[in-house]
Amino acid sequence: MTETRNVIIIGSGPAGYTAALYASRANLKPLMIEGRQPGGQLMITTDVENFPGFPDGILGPELMQRFRDQAVRFGTEIETGWVTEVDLASGSPFTVKTSEKEWTAKTVIISTGASARLLGLPDEEPSDAGPGFMGHGLSACATCDGFFFRDKDVLVVGGGDSAMEEATFLTRFCSRVTIVHRREELRASKIMQDRALANDKIDFMWNASLTAYLGTPGERLTGVRVEDTTTGEEREVETGGVFLGIGHVPNTQVFDGQLKMDDSGYLVTKPGMAETEIPGVYACGDVQDSFYRQAVTAAGSGCMAAIEAERWLESQEG
Ligand code: NAP
Repeated sequence: MTETRNVIIIGSGPAGYTAALYASRANLKPLMIEGRQPGGQLMITTDVENFPGFPDGILGPELMQRFRDQAVRFGTEIETGWVTEVDLASGSPFTVKTSEKEWTAKTVIISTGASARLLGLPDEEPSDAGPGFMGHGLSACATCDGFFFRDKDVLVVGGGDSAMEEATFLTRFCSRVTIVHRREELRASKIMQDRALANDKIDFMWNASLTAYLGTPGERLTGVRVEDTTTGEEREVETGGVFLGIGHVPNTQVFDGQLKMDDSGYLVTKPGMAETEIPGVYACGDVQDSFYRQAVTAAGSGCMAAIEAERWLESQEG
């Protein structure tokens, strides 16, 4: 066990790196534990065209590398590891453990993000076995990638608000959008359903479930295999792209029983703040935001978390 740190930041994406930047510039010498997918969801995105300051766009991984470099430049220490256990409930100083190490910290900033729920089909994401379709015709974010599917016919998987919202958004660019849902009843709120049902660029494929992606992983997705969930019959459907709108899963399992979460598992912070109900513990980015889920809003909330942590530390000294 080493000395008690001022700030430990768990997780690295736009929120975590921004918190690290502000905390390091406040001379708090933060330690960031960056997790298994350093950089978060932007690492599986291609061009990012909606992050202010980059008029020609920037690749997601490059943007995250820049965030990281900036945080390191001011003295953020970065540890690669996966947090397996925390003790927050006993109050500050808090304990944070990975399988190899253990630290204590006066404050903890949680920026573990959320992961898009995926179907779990072969070649979905890049893996040791080879490249995947994600970023090559398959996306889990219409706001990020919709623009690249101009004039194409695409599929949106899901029957909830996310799928309705993604499908409606995509009709701005795509020639046709087909919502593929595994049942014949939507889960989405009435208003979102009505909007999608009334849109003449949107079709529905009911009782349908994707069983395979077709095309060349790492290059281009050209179609999918679809199973009729009532008869079990399978057929191939050509498409210019697939958007998964089947929800997000906040990465909060390690905080189970220690921090307040909403019904979907997102961390709950005080209104308009990054502080959780435990003084000295802050949450920022997608782990506490099921609504905006944008890199720029995550970065903003990371800044809030660091400033709140800095002020709380000052209040403890006084
Ligand atoms: P959700 O409500 O959980 O809906 C997920 C949808 O994906 C469901 O239709 C589900 O099918 C389907 N699905 C889940 N796993 C699947 C799988 N493995 N294969 C095929 N289909 C699968 O998630 P969400 O739409 O992301 O919404 C999450 C929360 O955010 C909700 O509270 C929602 O109201 C809110 N939200 C609000 C807005 C808005 O108001 N603008 C926008 C987005 C989200 P089943 O229906 O068969 O279970």
